[in-house]
Parts: sequence; structure tokens; C-alpha cells
Amino acid sequence: MNKSSTKRPFVRPGALDKIEHLSYIAAPLSKQPFRSACQEFSSPSHQASGKVMPQPDNDVLQRFLFEQSDVRGEIVSLQDSYQAVLANHRRSDQEIPAAIDTLLGEFLSAAALLSATLKFDGIITLQAKPKNKGALELIMADSTRHNNLRAVARYDASNAPSDDQACDFRSLLDGGYLLITIDPAKGERYQSVIAIEHDSLSECLNTYFQQSEQLPTRIWLAADENRAGGLLLQALPVQLQSLEQRSELWQHLTLLVDTLKVDEQVTLSHRQQLHRLFHQEELQLFEPTALQFSCSCSRARTASMLISLGEKEIQTMLDEQTRIDVGCEFCHYVYQFNAEQAARLFSTEPPTLH
Ligand SMILES: [Zn+2]
Repeated sequence: MNKSSTKRPFVRPGALDKIEHLSYIAAPLSKQPFRSACQEFSSPSHQASGKVMPQPDNDVLQRFLFEQSDVRGEIVSLQDSYQAVLANHRRSDQEIPAAIDTLLGEFLSAAALLSATLKFDGIITLQAKPKNKGALELIMADSTRHNNLRAVARYDASNAPSDDQACDFRSLLDGGYLLITIDPAKGERYQSVIAIEHDSLSECLNTYFQQSEQLPTRIWLAADENRAGGLLLQALPVQLQSLEQRSELWQHLTLLVDTLKVDEQVTLSHRQQLHRLFHQEELQLFEPTALQFSCSCSRARTASMLISLGEKEIQTMLDEQTRIDVGCEFCHYVYQFNAEQAARLFSTEPPTLH
């Protein structure tokens, strides 16, 4: 056991430095070979005991590498973080279709998978809007490199389609666009816009991967009312294989993942999914990283937003009301500024925001 992990280091730093926008962070966390772990888990004695049936993974992201090849992957499963987003979303009195819930799950999974590819501190945001005003006005999710996720959908039930079938990704967002923003803690913001001419968020993102000058990358997303999941494959720069070998493997692996069903993505553990897909491959599965719902809003950020509106606008608001309340769309926390606190925002004296 563990033979394969001693053959060579999993990741050679030189290979990783060459990847640009969607770079992979090299940090091998476990040297436990996936194959032996799979055999353990599926051995008859374990199954007969009825005790070791693995549960689905919750709120974790895991990376994996195919041995002796130039392809890697990320797999994610979300439950509590997804349910926290849905709980916030359901605070409105509106009747919200299940399709919006599952779309939020897919956006969250996609943000988590994409953030795992950042090689610097920062936030990745996915935001989609339809061309014309409809029931879904906006849907967005973001994830930090520290695995804090959040998402929101602006939904107006008064514009809801009468036909349930019109509640799919394309009908809700057709003709609109998907904006992907990579916002590093230091340095310039990077944005890409993709026209929504696809039936799913996965297809839309796959077009983004094809259009941007990146290594071959594919994403598969899924969600039901309880859980959300996703899988991403990315080719690494050719190093262990020839370009032809890597292309052949890439074709083979992506065809395998194309057979993965939504219910498998949201009910099976990561090991079960990877075993189901790649049991004939040598795979190295890394330790899971925990993810959580966490909102990045703050009083200081809210104050900056108010300052950006200008003193005149703030004064007009205070002429009409005694206090300015600013609610966060993501977590529903309300930041309150009375007249004195609002005036202090524009004062030249040192701010006291707390
Ligand atoms: Zn918030």
C-alpha cells in the first residue's frame, strides 16, 4: 500500500507556475493513494457489516490528480452553506420556484470550484443578468480563497412566468450575460463577459474556458433542494505526457464525467463519485478543505458605499427619515446610520465607525 505516493512527488512546482488565470495551488495534503482507499471502502467485509457506508461529503472541496499524467481535478459538495443561502433567500414573502434554489446551488458550487483555482488571495464572483426585465433580475455567488461562500438571487414573483417550464436557466436568463470577476486582494481586477446562449450554467462556463486563453478546463454542476455539487477537470501544462497522450486522456476523462448524473453528484460521497467514474485510473485524492457560508459585508464597507453616494444625497435621505438603514442582500444584516453618524462620514475628523 502507498507505493504510488513514494514513486515521485505529486506536483512539481515548476509545472504549476506556468498556469496563468486559473492556476492550481500546489500543496499536497495527503499521500494516501485513492485506489487503495476505494478498495477498502468497497470490500465485502465492510459492506457486510453495514457500518461503513460512506455519507455524502458536506461543505468540502477536494482536489485530485491523475497519476503519471497532466490532468487534475476539483470536486465539491455543499449542504449547510447552501442551506444558509436558501434560508436567507426565503426570508422574502414571495413564492420562489425550486429552479431558482437549484440555480443558487449551481452558482455556489461553481464559485467554490473556480476559487480553488486562484493562486492568490482574492474573491471570485459569478453574476448573471437577463437581457430583459423578468422574474429573475440577478443571480450571483462569490467565494474567497479562504473558502467563504455566499450567493443571492433577486427575484420578482410579480413577473413570474405562468408556465413552470419557463423557469429553466435559459428562459430565466436568455440573451443576458454572465460576468466573471476575479478580484485579487492586491492588483488589478480581471473580468470576463459571456453571453448566455446556453441551457445551463455549466455550458456557459465551459464556453468561458474555451474562449479564454487557458488550458483545457471543464465543469459539471448539480443541485437539488438539499445539496449542491460540482466537479472540475483541468489539463496541466504538458510535462509527464506528450501533448497527444494528454489530449487522448482528456477526451477519455471528460467523456466519463459526462455520464455523471445530477442525483449522483448530490447524493454520493466524493470517493464514491470518483470511484464510479475513474476506478480504472490511478488517482491521488487530497485531503478535504472545509467551506462555509460567510458574508463579507461590514459597517466600514457600507460606510464607503454611503460616502460614494455623496453628501448631498445622504442629506436628502436624512431630510425624509431620521436614520439610514442599509440591508445586506446576502445575509440580511442591517447597518444603521443616524444623522450624527451619517454626518461624520463626510467630516474631516478621524472616522469612528464602530
Ligand atoms: Zn452581509
